[in-house]
Amino acid sequence: MRAFVDKEVTPHVAEWEAAGRIPRSFWKRLGELGFLGLEFPTEFGGAGGDFLASIVLGEEMARCRSGGVAFSVLVHTDMSSPWLTRYGTEAQQRKYLPGIVAGETVCALGITEPGTGSDMAALTTRAVRHGDVYRITGSKTFITNGVYGDLYFLAARTGSGTAQRRHEGISMFLVERGLPGFTVSRKLDKTGMRASDTAELAFQDCPVPAENLLGVEGRGFQQLAAGLQRERTMAAVLALAAASQALEDTVAYLRERHAFGEPLAQRQALRHRIADLATDLEAARALVYHAAMLYAAGEECVKEVSMAKLFATEVANRVAYQAVQMHGGYGYMREFPVEGFARDVRLWTIASGTSEIMREIIARRIFE
Ligand SMILES: Cc1cc2nc3c(=O)[nH]c(=O)nc-3n(C[C@H](O)[C@H](O)[C@H](O)COP(=O)(O)OP(=O)(O)OC[C@H]3O[C@@H](n4cnc5c(N)ncnc54)[C@H](O)[C@@H]3O)c2cc1C
Repeated sequence: MRAFVDKEVTPHVAEWEAAGRIPRSFWKRLGELGFLGLEFPTEFGGAGGDFLASIVLGEEMARCRSGGVAFSVLVHTDMSSPWLTRYGTEAQQRKYLPGIVAGETVCALGITEPGTGSDMAALTTRAVRHGDVYRITGSKTFITNGVYGDLYFLAARTGSGTAQRRHEGISMFLVERGLPGFTVSRKLDKTGMRASDTAELAFQDCPVPAENLLGVEGRGFQQLAAGLQRERTMAAVLALAAASQALEDTVAYLRERHAFGEPLAQRQALRHRIADLATDLEAARALVYHAAMLYAAGEECVKEVSMAKLFATEVANRVAYQAVQMHGGYGYMREFPVEGFARDVRLWTIASGTSEIMREIIARRIFE
């Protein structure tokens, strides 16, 4: 994986960052090498591996020095398609998995809406059953892989829920690109993660076949909640691995750059700063690996995953600030990878559950 990233990913990231997308040929290449189906059953072309194999994929992809490339790939492999093996029928798996594993069907996850993000139970996109279709109306925003994707794992409201139980009545659907009434209304312009495309989507009476309901009608919130631990662990992995790369880049820079007659690496103030950041990263790594092991073993891990996501993404942002600072003016220049890292990593205390929401979850488990 590392050799592949060095040879076939890193040399292209500048081009993909500028284009605002990763090319189709890259998805196919990932598929050809088996990287898009690490955990899927072998009968559908997968490798039958476990979550730790996916962690390796996340860590190595994140070292390519483009957060957006890693984000796009891991949204496909970890933040959307696993719902298909978890909740999909055999017919759904047979229909979609081979294309997903081959890199021909690019996946996206559509939960967030213009009016609600953290408060998932407040979503208003509606799906109303009419015979053998559900008609979907509403909009989604900030959807990664949303502009150029093929298959959307979409959350919509099929029931009303009640004021006390707002999370009831949400369902998940597999929505194919190209259905009537489904449009990509905007490609969003972002601070960082530029190589990943991000969309606003509109649905107007979009007819989704009833057989594309994913899992149980009305249980979508619970299904999504169960998958969030995987998504959050992976978010923590991506932030941690990119920060580790940025710290290595900074150490190399300090060795090379001279000031006042000696390499900056000789300055104790900077050496101690590096020591502190390396220690923080090591602590983050221990938390993240611990959470990943619990998740892989199928154990209860909501608190541990929330702590890992909170700590790793906040540490990664501290690394970003200091990495830019220690590069001086060059840290502010587009041609230096730490500049892009600082823009990319800002996302990780926001997406996949904000730091505030992670604290809420942890606090609830402490006080209840
Ligand atoms: C680049 C990018 C890619 C994304 N990709 C996807 C994707 O593929 N699919 C998808 O569905 N979503 C995606 N998202 C959405 C992302 O998950 C949400 O932005 C995130 O969950 C936060 O929701 P919000 O933006 O609506 O913020 P809000 O929920 O409006 O929060 C605003 C602020 O209020 C704070 N806040 C909210 N509630 C509380 C509370 N109870 N206590 C204390 N503070 C609180 C938040 O922490 C935050 O600081 C993406 C976002 C970005 C920016």
